[in-house]
Amino acid sequence: MKINLSTGINSYFPQIKPHKQQLKLQPLNADTVTFGVSRKEKNYETAMTNIPQLPCACCGKIMIPENVFERPIVKNYDISATEILKVLKKYETRMHKVERNVFRRLEKLSKKNPEMNLHDLFNRKRYYHLANTEIKQLKIVSEIEKTDFNISPESQAKLNNALKNTRQIMFVEGKDVLKKRQRIIKEFSSLLEDCPEKEEFQRVLSMIQKLPSSKNDVDSFFVKYSPLDSESLAYKLLESSKASIEHVVPASENGADNSSNYIVMCRKCNNSRSSMPYEEFLVKHPEMIKNSQKYMDRIINYLNKQYIFGMDNYPFIIKKLLEDETNGLIHLDVSKYRMPYKSPDLFIRSNGLYKITKD
Ligand SMILES: [Zn+2]
Repeated sequence: MKINLSTGINSYFPQIKPHKQQLKLQPLNADTVTFGVSRKEKNYETAMTNIPQLPCACCGKIMIPENVFERPIVKNYDISATEILKVLKKYETRMHKVERNVFRRLEKLSKKNPEMNLHDLFNRKRYYHLANTEIKQLKIVSEIEKTDFNISPESQAKLNNALKNTRQIMFVEGKDVLKKRQRIIKEFSSLLEDCPEKEEFQRVLSMIQKLPSSKNDVDSFFVKYSPLDSESLAYKLLESSKASIEHVVPASENGADNSSNYIVMCRKCNNSRSSMPYEEFLVKHPEMIKNSQKYMDRIINYLNKQYIFGMDNYPFIIKKLLEDETNGLIHLDVSKYRMPYKSPDLFIRSNGLYKITKD
């Protein structure tokens, strides 16, 4: 689409302010800067999560753009798992560790069972994975039972009770009951609150937190997702690597719902942060201090090519915001950013992105 500038950009994109006006904004003051496109219109959100080759601001892994998930990955899931895995193969390097290991196992299995559909293949060795999961669970529980903690008889009685409940939840309750791990950890967390021996119960809690989960253990992944149909299983392998909008200041803390408060993280890191303050989050994820620079470098590279319009202040605002939120732990270098200085001649709107080229 060609735009005749004599009729004014604003008649085509009324939400976009002329550049001169934007340059007058104070780029370092996140409170006063507003962006032209509101979230309702989804433009920045889609634009940011669809940037190709974008590293996660936390783990630094190249993410899968959101638009990959907008259409079915394969047209028909009744085909063999072998065919589906061939399509998923191109995302293999972007998968997280557990998902990638599951994917590789499925590839091996599919060689022996080339005609099987994905759901059946996934369930092929369900009992093997279930047994493995139970062995790991049992090992952790007996380790706690065998350890001598320096606690009072009252506290020991409470601990014994929690261990008894754990065995009940893990080995007596039905195999299909969900959220078992979550319930067990909750029980041990409340022990930590109830009992006076904080250090000892912190030790117990960190031991029980080693219980395998689908996020960190291949066997648990197979057990947890075995009921899913082929389509959902294919998505499950990719989902944790999906690019998603992360609010630097959480919405629950009245963080702005626009790109002045957005960074992009993979689903896995995004879920792990939830609304945790950054100082606490960086203790769990110190890799973010380095990787947020990789993220910003790619954003700057993309903005410098003028592939997204209307985010002129973004690098400055996010640099300032992350510095404030992390007490200076994250200190981004945005010196390579070339802020646009004049109105572009031509806009091409495609895939939710504003691509700008010179005619
Ligand atoms: Zn990540």
